[in-house]
Amino acid sequence: MSFTLNDLPLRDDLRGRSPYGAPQLDVPVVLNTNENPYPPSSRLAEAMAEAVTEVALGLNRYPDRDAVRLREGLAAYLGHDLGVDQVWAANGSNEILQQILQAFGGPGRVAMGFEPSYSMHPIISRGTGTSWVSVPRDEEFRIDMDAALAAIARHRPSVVFLTSPNNPTGTALEIADIARVCQATPGVVVVDEAYAEFRREGTPSALSMLPDHPRLIVSRTMSKAFALAGARVGYLAAHPAVVDALQLVRLPYHLSAVTQAVALTALDHAGELLSAVADLRAERDALVAWLREHGFSVAESDANFVLFGEFEDRTEIWQDMLDRQVLIREVGPPGWLRVTVGTPDEMDAFRRALLQVTGR
Ligand SMILES: *Cc1c(COP(=O)(O)O)cnc(C)c1O
Repeated sequence: MSFTLNDLPLRDDLRGRSPYGAPQLDVPVVLNTNENPYPPSSRLAEAMAEAVTEVALGLNRYPDRDAVRLREGLAAYLGHDLGVDQVWAANGSNEILQQILQAFGGPGRVAMGFEPSYSMHPIISRGTGTSWVSVPRDEEFRIDMDAALAAIARHRPSVVFLTSPNNPTGTALEIADIARVCQATPGVVVVDEAYAEFRREGTPSALSMLPDHPRLIVSRTMSKAFALAGARVGYLAAHPAVVDALQLVRLPYHLSAVTQAVALTALDHAGELLSAVADLRAERDALVAWLREHGFSVAESDANFVLFGEFEDRTEIWQDMLDRQVLIREVGPPGWLRVTVGTPDEMDAFRRALLQVTGR
């Protein structure tokens, strides 16, 4: 008989759980994890290599534990008069979210989200022993504010997640609604803005709310618009007291000298890395229009992906697309699929495959 994790002294609350598992498959058209399809230029890659060589000569020493230069760079990038003491960085925004839950969640405490939303919010919550309460979104994937405020009053969450633009639906939130949630919540409110750079003209960022909301946390990432998913850099902006709280739970020297050097170089070349964002937004809007023309239901998107449907058997569509070398994501409400906006060639391949698969 084989030994499995069930034979291990695993925490009871982890038994039967599934790990995060977006398939990593080697196919020509990868449109399933919302990455930016344009890699850094070789000029930028060389600049990163140079920066890494420089820090490599000092790798016998621990890195700057507080990543001060990187945080200064991130604060300058975000604007809004943010100071270095209001910005914190970690290995991807997933580590940022984990640190938030370690500091503000935990056993006996509740984290809340409005689903469908980012699958890692409940996974990281449970991983830190925090109870997860899910409140359903309405048919347009908006947050039902009456239901939200009632659930907050009932469960008194220590952490509330608002994802804007939301993954996997693309839906952005109004500032007024974020403010109402902040006012009602006894704990911290995390606005996960992983896709902020892709939002449409006029869609606000919660960064502007920070001066009036000391328990508001805005989390961002370099994994999406910044085309740096492989480097693992996420960050947040919040009141300096929040940054102080996270120091209590972060591991010492969590952000390697190599990561800090690469991220700083990327920030120095922010213009180049973000130059594709406008094209990706235009490609997204064209994709939404094309899907609607062909009779699909499409969720409004302020992100670099589009949720579309509705399919009786979405698993079959997903598999048929994969058989045509196009990898998309089976995620979100039943009947819907999500596609990341890729290059024009990748989108052509997606459109061709989808027409074949659905017979439209
Ligand atoms: C992709 C994504 C992240 C990013 O995670 P990283 O750890 O920074 O790569 C965070 N939140 C949401 C909603 C996402 O979709």
